[in-house]
Amino acid sequence: MNLHEFQARELFRDAGMPVPRGRVATTPAEAAAITADMGGAAVVKAQVHSGGRGKAGGVKLAGTPEEAEAHARAILGMTIRGLTVHKVLLVPVENIASERYVGILVDRAVQAPLFMVSREGGVDIEEVAATDPAAITRLRVDPRFGLLPHQAYRLGSALFDAPSLARQCATVLSQLYQVFMKNGASLCEVNPLIATEAGEVKAIDAKVTIDANELFRRPALESLRDLDAEPAAETHARAAGLSFVKLDGNVGCCVNGAGLAMATMDLVKYYGGDPANFLDIGGSSSPDKVVAALEIITADPNVQVILFNIFGGITRCDDVARGIVEATKRADIRAPILIRLTGTNEAEARDILAAEGFSAFTSMDDVVRAAVERAAA
Ligand code: GDP
Ligand code: MN
Repeated sequence: MNLHEFQARELFRDAGMPVPRGRVATTPAEAAAITADMGGAAVVKAQVHSGGRGKAGGVKLAGTPEEAEAHARAILGMTIRGLTVHKVLLVPVENIASERYVGILVDRAVQAPLFMVSREGGVDIEEVAATDPAAITRLRVDPRFGLLPHQAYRLGSALFDAPSLARQCATVLSQLYQVFMKNGASLCEVNPLIATEAGEVKAIDAKVTIDANELFRRPALESLRDLDAEPAAETHARAAGLSFVKLDGNVGCCVNGAGLAMATMDLVKYYGGDPANFLDIGGSSSPDKVVAALEIITADPNVQVILFNIFGGITRCDDVARGIVEATKRADIRAPILIRLTGTNEAEARDILAAEGFSAFTSMDDVVRAAVERAAA
């Protein structure tokens, strides 16, 4: 679950990090009023779940409330990497002497939290990693001990030459580690962490991703979820109790069980196709879930064919069949639907489908091959 910058800043501030206080506006007039309140100048920042806002024109300096109003008018409603801006954050203008990158993430390869820091701040870290990997300093943290003071200082001095700045930076890194652990984050990033002309280290951007599997232990964080900011299909899927991930292909997949869904996607690739999504309708499937699944899949304009792969155990094939029939009655589904089902109540399912003119495959290989052919046609 991604947080907005203004939300991540609050988590940072709670941990004592030096983060200038900001305020959120949803209209240009509000942006002007806040800027006037802040002394007449502000940075106006688009709040979307994406980096690269600066490059896209979503971060602008305003020297007067009128300028802030004009910037907010331009930024609100703008799309950045496919996401619409509904809010802007107004923060005090800082005099930047230098910009650095600091981040911590769960690194599966080292099975531990990993700090990544770089003097190349303010730019895309992925680009630095690709073009100049030596510019990134990495440090694996043993979660039993946490970030030890000497390690924090070593990272601080990798970023700043002046001992005072290195020390301030070390403190920030320890606080960032606390935020990361306390909130069940999979990523915490500050880009840029700046040194001001006056010699102060400050965090002026904030990115936090919470591991969704940690939310049940931290129910308060659920309130930070912004339904307007995530793809509509994912919100719809979560509400319907479906696991869904949108992908770029054209074979819409509807499968019961995560493992079978993965195997189905592998087979689609094996036969030369591309899945449009991962979708697991879960272990026991009511017709309603199938209807919701078909609504989500057919909302994707790339989908050329819909592939059902159902291995009936706890999931009953007749429930799935009823869902398919119900969905096709409710909406005019343009893409052909190819169905494979086998297992619990298979015979009933085939009867229900046959009555509506559908037939169903038995073999997974056959249905996937047929779906890939239809998608390519
Ligand atoms: P991002 O592009 O989405 O990562 O957004 P950032 O919050 O990192 O802002 C992009 C860039 O805007 C930063 O790297 C800074 O160079 C610049 N910027 C942000 N806030 C300030 C500020 O208060 N003063 C100045 N001079 N520049 C700022
Ligand atoms: Mn940034």
